[in-house]
Amino acid sequence: MILEAIEKIPSAARPPDAADVVVIGGGIAGVSTALFLAEAGLRVVLCEKGLVGAEQSARNWGWVRQMGRDPAELPMTVRSLDIWRGLDRTYGIETGFRETGITYICRTRHEVREFTDWADHAREADLPTRILDRKGLAEVLPGISDRFSMGLHTANDGRAEPLSAVPQMAKAAIRLGAVIVENCAARGVETSAGALSAVVTEKGVIRTERAVLAGGAWSRLFLGNLGVDFPQLKILGTAARIESAGAVPQMPVGGGHLAFRKRLDGGYTVAQRNANIAPLVPDSFRLFGDFFPSFLKSWHELKLRVGRQFVTEFRMPRRWALDAVTPFEQIRTLDPLPHEPFNRQTLVNLARAFPAFADARQTSSWAGMIDATPDAVPVIGPVAAVPGLYLEAGFSGHGFGSGPGAGELMAEMVRGVATRLDPHPFRLERFAKSQGGAARAAA
Ligand SMILES: Cc1cc2nc3c(=O)[nH]c(=O)nc-3n(C[C@H](O)[C@H](O)[C@H](O)COP(=O)(O)OP(=O)(O)OC[C@H]3O[C@@H](n4cnc5c(N)ncnc54)[C@H](O)[C@@H]3O)c2cc1C
Repeated sequence: MILEAIEKIPSAARPPDAADVVVIGGGIAGVSTALFLAEAGLRVVLCEKGLVGAEQSARNWGWVRQMGRDPAELPMTVRSLDIWRGLDRTYGIETGFRETGITYICRTRHEVREFTDWADHAREADLPTRILDRKGLAEVLPGISDRFSMGLHTANDGRAEPLSAVPQMAKAAIRLGAVIVENCAARGVETSAGALSAVVTEKGVIRTERAVLAGGAWSRLFLGNLGVDFPQLKILGTAARIESAGAVPQMPVGGGHLAFRKRLDGGYTVAQRNANIAPLVPDSFRLFGDFFPSFLKSWHELKLRVGRQFVTEFRMPRRWALDAVTPFEQIRTLDPLPHEPFNRQTLVNLARAFPAFADARQTSSWAGMIDATPDAVPVIGPVAAVPGLYLEAGFSGHGFGSGPGAGELMAEMVRGVATRLDPHPFRLERFAKSQGGAARAAA
């Protein structure tokens, strides 16, 4: 469904022989980076193994939020919201961004504590966030049932349209001179005198001294072939589109067991917030130590599953030569099946929270593989083991909102100019240290 619905872009047939920067991966991270690099006048080539924006960036809920972010990531998310606000006007595009505000609704003591605590971060960052009591909730969200005792509302959060936002940004990048090539997997990189000298794609070699890997859930595999160990796992998120004639709020709303966002096509994208599947794969065992602390915190939101994914990844080569077909060409788009029991329960939870949803009808459903790091904060920075190579991945379920901010930061780093944001929280080495030294990142 996603592949048919996604907006198409004018892709080049082949990449050129040389570029100032090659971006690998056409999700929101890679496309934002290409957009800002092209705007700065660099010759940018973006290679996407399938269609631009077709993996996580098309499958997300479309929330563009600061609320609930890790404090380490908050400045980047605040900056990203600023960029979202100006994207359409600056580049003459329609990402579907609307500054609607977002509200979290709380029922359990745990939720109330979690969001009350986060309000302190909002105060420090000077965000227009306020705690709502029952009366305040009813004012901000007319039609909410009386099951919820508290809410947290951030007035300048918003929403955008995942099926068109990234293709629209890609079109803007192309107008600024970027070359975007779809169905063009990057197989690996070549080095000369220890530094990056080319990106090898299935459609030819591109000579360049700088490359950005924005490969989403594929980044660990790509780096593994270079001997770089990036701790990253995949989590399966399920969502659906529904239609309802009821009068339901226009802003995204999330609670323990539900999440919904009004879409510009009149429907709603809905999901069970905090209900995801962790497929057990060989990497689950290899990375057990890295992810165990975060698993302890979030086990109640995760359903472990042993299935076909284990066999697929077990069979997938972890090393390959650059003149042979790679896994990136064999799986053009990660298009997993949704977990329909979650969607059925979502409809029940929605009607309990907003009785106007009682008439809701599911029209389609999909799933996406969220790429997660052990601390749920992305990596945005150089890969020390391969000078000239940069990594921008591991957005851990937050990257749609923070993508433009991440792209701007990455573009500044690649250009070697002063960065507006402190890149320190996003360095790859933070994982190497926790594992006992740089050896792991360079092994
Ligand atoms: C169900 C779901 C709900 C979500 N909801 C939200 C939300 O509401 N708000 C939010 O902020 N975030 C949300 N997210 C997370 C968000 O979608 C991601 O964090 C973000 O899209 C990541 O962008 P990306 O560019 O890093 O990765 P992706 O969008 O996955 O893009 C990576 C691209 O790289 C390509 N690629 C990989 N390897 C190669 C290669 N070797 N050569 C060429 N191309 C390659 C892939 O084909 C892919 O297109 C959600 C995610 C899911 C799955």
